[in-house]
Amino acid sequence: MENVVIVGSGPAGYTAAIYLARAELKPLIIAGNLPGGLLTQTTEVENFPAFPEGIQGFDLMENMRQQAEKFGARLQFGEVKSFELSPAKEKTLVLADGSKIGARALVLAMGARPRSLGAPGEEELKNKGVSYCATCDGAFFKQVPVMVIGGGDSALEEALFLCHFASEVHLVHRRDQFRGSKIMSDRVLANDKIKVHWDSVLAEVHDPAQDKVTAATLRNVKSGQTSRLDCAAVFIAVGHLPNTESLQGQLPLENGYIVLPDGGSSKTTIPGVFAAGDCADSTYRQAVTAAGMGCRAAIDAERYLQLA
Ligand code: NAP
Repeated sequence: MENVVIVGSGPAGYTAAIYLARAELKPLIIAGNLPGGLLTQTTEVENFPAFPEGIQGFDLMENMRQQAEKFGARLQFGEVKSFELSPAKEKTLVLADGSKIGARALVLAMGARPRSLGAPGEEELKNKGVSYCATCDGAFFKQVPVMVIGGGDSALEEALFLCHFASEVHLVHRRDQFRGSKIMSDRVLANDKIKVHWDSVLAEVHDPAQDKVTAATLRNVKSGQTSRLDCAAVFIAVGHLPNTESLQGQLPLENGYIVLPDGGSSKTTIPGVFAAGDCADSTYRQAVTAAGMGCRAAIDAERYLQLA
């Protein structure tokens, strides 16, 4: 049986691993289906402390992995499909390949994934011009018009990033004010390549019959009017959903987020099971807050194991 298994390899998981490994508990990390987490798909991270010049998201996560492994954390590729959780000493994880792992303590740090909109054409054209990651796919669309949906920091960041490649960026937001930070909003509004479509939503992506994105129809939510814009790609950046389906029926969830009844700690409702990062945080969702939560979960797990 493992001492402690960490599920997820984003900032929360790796930070928990660094602390638990330094406590000589030899944690096992189950990497999940995107090793390193969502930050590996980001470009420049400018707000993680200690990097005054910024750092690439991929490099930041590689650094965290190396730091965790240096102290003895072990990384196993794979995804947890379900859990058998009870207050009993052993918690069981069932992996996608059917194998099982027993652990005395768990740190749940599975993160969250991009939300889709369900617009006609969106699903059919996924990876054929519809994308949830400008960093991954933006360079495929050079000197052509593209569209970004959303008004948060992710959408603003993606719109700015896409200006390096696209001839024009249509930024579509359902309200008349961005949700994202002022500094990012100002950068977007000052950029001549970005055309903002306020009060508008994505009504349809064209053209599944051609097996590629050729245009998108927008609907103005105030006037009801629709308009069709030519574009070669639609980047959807409308927030995230926590990766907690595997916990259904095992732990209380609220809108999919793991409930931490004692807000001041990482303890879930089951002794020995701790949670950290975006799967348990619908409010802050920053790399640095996820890392802080990972530290908290590691300290809570270490104390639990000392007393158990
Ligand atoms: P977010 O802040 O939750 O923003 C989601 C955006 O999508 C909002 O503008 C929202 O509109 C819109 N939206 C949601 N559902 C929609 C729907 N069904 N149809 C149309 N629009 C929809 O998510 P995020 O941008 O991914 O950011 C998440 C967190 O990460 C935030 O705390 C953000 O600050 C942070 N972040 C930071 C950076 C950075 O600092 N460099 C970069 C990326 C993300 P409404 O505004 O109307 O709700």
